[in-house]
Amino acid sequence: MSKIISVNAGSSSLKFQLFEMDDEIVITSGVFERIGLEDSIFTIKYNGEKDVTTLPIENHKVAVQLLLDTLIKKEIVKDLDEIKGVGHRVVQGGAYFDQSVIIDEDVVSKIDELKSLAPLHNPAHLTGYYAFKEAIPNAGAVAVFDTAFHQTLEPKSYIYPIPYKYYAENKVRKYGAHGTSHFYVSSRCREMMGNPEHSRIIVAHLGAGGSLTAVKDGKSINTSMGFTPLAGIMMGTRSGDVDPSVIDYLIEEVGLDMKEVIKMLNKESGLLGVSGVSSDFRDVQEAAANGNERAQLALDIFFRRVIAYIGRYFIALGGVDAICFTAGIGENSFFARKEICNLLAEALGIEIDDDANVNGKGDRLISTPNSKVKVYVIPTNEELVIARDTKRLLNL
Ligand code: AMP
Repeated sequence: MSKIISVNAGSSSLKFQLFEMDDEIVITSGVFERIGLEDSIFTIKYNGEKDVTTLPIENHKVAVQLLLDTLIKKEIVKDLDEIKGVGHRVVQGGAYFDQSVIIDEDVVSKIDELKSLAPLHNPAHLTGYYAFKEAIPNAGAVAVFDTAFHQTLEPKSYIYPIPYKYYAENKVRKYGAHGTSHFYVSSRCREMMGNPEHSRIIVAHLGAGGSLTAVKDGKSINTSMGFTPLAGIMMGTRSGDVDPSVIDYLIEEVGLDMKEVIKMLNKESGLLGVSGVSSDFRDVQEAAANGNERAQLALDIFFRRVIAYIGRYFIALGGVDAICFTAGIGENSFFARKEICNLLAEALGIEIDDDANVNGKGDRLISTPNSKVKVYVIPTNEELVIARDTKRLLNL
């Protein structure tokens, strides 16, 4: 019986899920937040119960030790040697990694080298890696890259139309993100479609961050995030695509500096920036329902930007067999799915089954048999992909 832990280490957080891999069951899961502060929060779910503790956690190493001590104390594992593998989510794998790999010194140095492309994430992933390596040295470690699934993009899709030397010398290109989610959801969709030889799928990962991917015969051919996750659709606090001249204009006219503009585009824009209410879709939806016009405008822009990418990818794929909704908004908001599908209905001949959309649960088809495009809701499961890759690569 092999136990594998999926880890997502951020700069001040660490999420985990411990799997019993023979049956792919989650035994326990949780998160450390505000690591480095006096009031860090440790949440762990086990046996249907949720424990939340506020305590000072100095760094990731302390967090990992606390997690492992808790696993023993709660008798979730009897011996830490039961944990045979640790799978680490890594945001940026650059052009080096088109699939998951066992972490060795070379992999560590490449993840480290790529920190200029993901300054908040890659160093944090390595911190998480070292913390587990020290605490359970016998467990193997695997890196699963958010960019790997998009390495099948062709140069005509990933090269920006700026001087080529910035690609050749400085690695400036589209890398995309959410690849593990797009891989999981598009694979599950193909299964649900009966594994046809050819398939044209658009995955809409709509969460606090959001991206769309065009998947042809199982391969990503284009995706809406770019050099960083700032590109593409409107998100909770990220702007998505804007004319880059806005940056210079704000610097000249308003007196912001470059760092302030980039922070504004990442943290103060999107649903939050337009509505002035919240970055959370539910809050914006509620405010709009209560007559807040800017909240309504934020929703209108959000939906239009999603359908604009669906339109692009419809063309890029030469048609579309299925559209899949996933992540917080895509999985949970029947309202968002209905609005988006209504906007697409005339052009794509989509017809939604309202009962399946509103009342259904889990992986499901929500379009009617008459619909020209199948529409699915498929809850994403990045942690399971990480655990599966870890098991496969470590031969567990
Ligand atoms: P994620 O980043 O995938 O966790 O998604 C977070 C987003 O999902 C937030 O904007 C939430 O407001 C949104 N969300 C979660 N549950 C619901 C729901 N029941 N209805 C609408 N939006 C939701």
